[in-house]
Amino acid sequence: MIVIMKPGATNGQIETVVKRIKESGLDYQLNTGSEQVVIGLLGDTRSIQDIAFRSYEGVDKTVRISNTYKLSSREFHPDDTVVDVDGVKIGDGSFVTMAGPCSVEGLDQIRESARMAKAGGAQILRGGAFKPRTSPYAFQGLEEEGLIIMRQAADEFGLKVITEVMDEAHIDLVAKYTDIIQIGARNMQNYKLLSAVGKTGKPIGLKRGISGTIDEWLNAAEYIAVEEKSPVIFIERGIRTYETATRNTFDLSAVPIIKKMSHFPIIVDPSHGTGVWDLVSPMARAGVAAGADGMIVEIHPDPANAWSDGPQSLNEKNYLKMMKEVDLLVDAMQTIRQIENN
Ligand code: PEP
Ligand code: MN
Repeated sequence: MIVIMKPGATNGQIETVVKRIKESGLDYQLNTGSEQVVIGLLGDTRSIQDIAFRSYEGVDKTVRISNTYKLSSREFHPDDTVVDVDGVKIGDGSFVTMAGPCSVEGLDQIRESARMAKAGGAQILRGGAFKPRTSPYAFQGLEEEGLIIMRQAADEFGLKVITEVMDEAHIDLVAKYTDIIQIGARNMQNYKLLSAVGKTGKPIGLKRGISGTIDEWLNAAEYIAVEEKSPVIFIERGIRTYETATRNTFDLSAVPIIKKMSHFPIIVDPSHGTGVWDLVSPMARAGVAAGADGMIVEIHPDPANAWSDGPQSLNEKNYLKMMKEVDLLVDAMQTIRQIENN
């Protein structure tokens, strides 16, 4: 349940409601960002009578949220959350690109990738130093060495960093070098890991699970949100279906659905979403049109020799071409949004 205060409700009136919530043995969270303060009740609210709160001065209305996620929901936080990644804003109506290789392979490779990323207009460098590989015999990542050289390459080209953490034990290490912590698809329901990264204060790029429903994904975000420190960036990366022409089925309807259900931004990953490099550009364009706040895309100086995900990585020429096309659509989307808002 949420309690929505009237515009201009006093601190005293808010305090009275909060006191009552505490007396009922529940926890709460305040959203003071919008015109009307919203108080979210956390815990089992079934025995709480709405009428009790509605009779308090300064209370506009109470709303029962039927979803199990609350803090991530639009009802609790009607305004879009804009995630500030050390100056790069995600969710403010712009389109932010994160580009880089699947894996960090060495200094030359990550520097060259950072140069390419920057040349195309990306603001954030992606790259895995801890890699979730299907086979235990496949390259598992350069680990700390990879983090160090990725940070160095990003700083050289004025980029921010996103990289994956797979294990609670590595959170402090990864957080030291990255601006956004990525939770990979395979860990979307690793609840201990979600709670732990939620305590870091770093924005969390939360990939959709391989067979994750939207409801499960929103609940995964809730595990992070309930820690009250780290904002979430949803990343649609495709889900497993019976289709074999693509690596995953890229579910672009997730973009407007997440926008409707949650206040957190959502970006698209057309690389893992398709698994095929020549499908990446059309699906990136579709992501812009669907209303995504950005994308994460795999690029490589030499895709044929990439240590992981080469078949879905763009070379420099194709990446630059895609970014030009994406820019045209971003402009068109801005015009469409202006028309919608008028
Ligand atoms: C990746 O970003 O390289 C990755 C492993 O992605 P996912 O978790 O979506 O498979
Ligand atoms: Mn990859």
